[in-house]
Amino acid sequence: MTLYESLGIKTRINAAACYTALGGSIMPTEVVLAMNDAAKSFISLHELQEKAGARIARLTKNEGAFITTGAAAGIVLSILACRTRGDLAEIQKIIDGTAKPSEVIMFAGQRIPYDSSIRTAGADLVTVGDAIQSFDFQLEARINERTTAIFFCAGAHLASAALSLERTIEIARKYSVPVIVDAAAQLPPVSNLWRFTAELGADLAIFSGGKALRGPQSSGLVVGKSELIEAIRVNAAPYPRLARGFKASKEEIAGLLTAVELYLNRNHQRDWQGWSEIVDGWVADLNGRTSCAIWRDDVNEAGQPTPRVAIKLSSGTALDVVAKLQALDPIVEVVHDSRRMIWISPDSLQPGEAPLVIAALLKALPQ
Ligand SMILES: *Cc1c(COP(=O)(O)O)cnc(C)c1O
Repeated sequence: MTLYESLGIKTRINAAACYTALGGSIMPTEVVLAMNDAAKSFISLHELQEKAGARIARLTKNEGAFITTGAAAGIVLSILACRTRGDLAEIQKIIDGTAKPSEVIMFAGQRIPYDSSIRTAGADLVTVGDAIQSFDFQLEARINERTTAIFFCAGAHLASAALSLERTIEIARKYSVPVIVDAAAQLPPVSNLWRFTAELGADLAIFSGGKALRGPQSSGLVVGKSELIEAIRVNAAPYPRLARGFKASKEEIAGLLTAVELYLNRNHQRDWQGWSEIVDGWVADLNGRTSCAIWRDDVNEAGQPTPRVAIKLSSGTALDVVAKLQALDPIVEVVHDSRRMIWISPDSLQPGEAPLVIAALLKALPQ
């Protein structure tokens, strides 16, 4: 009996995405073994963080890197780093409640649920533009002496109402304001690990460890300018300061480092081909259903280049179909909206699951 069975928990086939509530991603055996290895000795956590960070920085062409407990923790740490620059007296002022007010700017069209982490870092959120568009002068008008950073969400699906990252960085530079890129779900492509920072000049970029990197679910990565990475270090665990709650363990650090190494060495072209074949097969299997329109979509729910199948029902709602999939054992998870759209994705499937997904869906969809 597995642990999950003993708890009476049904497992799920993930044809949806790297969703935290579903367990993020599945770690490759190498990652689990690295965590197992790391679990066997005492070490200096400061030294492990520093040396693992230095290796990830070198491998990803960044000045520095810090391993934390998820991208949301990375947002808090990045803002604390920009607020304090690692100055212990400034950190103490935040702890004492005497720090000067801090504002973080983001484009209104890039608002995401995770931007609540900006408030966790004690900063006020200030938005630029609206849901339709933003202009240079609107961003410039928001920058003042309270400005701590510009927070930029890099998903392509959030791009239309914001300035480009390139233009944002240009304006930020003029006022010496750091730019923090939230790229939590912006892999693939692998090159994003250095593109936003080393190539485009953002100060920091934040990635989830438990999404496409397939590291520990409670891990995350911040890469970028070494001065700010050092400032993150001063704010973060193992120090008992504001961000002590985001304690990356020796096992998580070892797991994330290994996951990054594996991701850099993956054959991403082969991943794409494998996903493509599954998606094309699903489209063929769904062909002829008159109750829905079906097409291949080469962009995933986070705006990244990962193929999936889009299904638009011509009657009923997606929730009716989802209810049927949720009654199965194992449950089949899909992405859906509250109207008539359903998407199925191949990238989180385990071997042998693709036919199970389509069989379940063919039963659940209206004739
Ligand atoms: C998933 C996600 C986060 C949160 O990531 P965690 O690693 O789960 O903390 C933050 N921002 C964006 C854009 C995300 O997609």
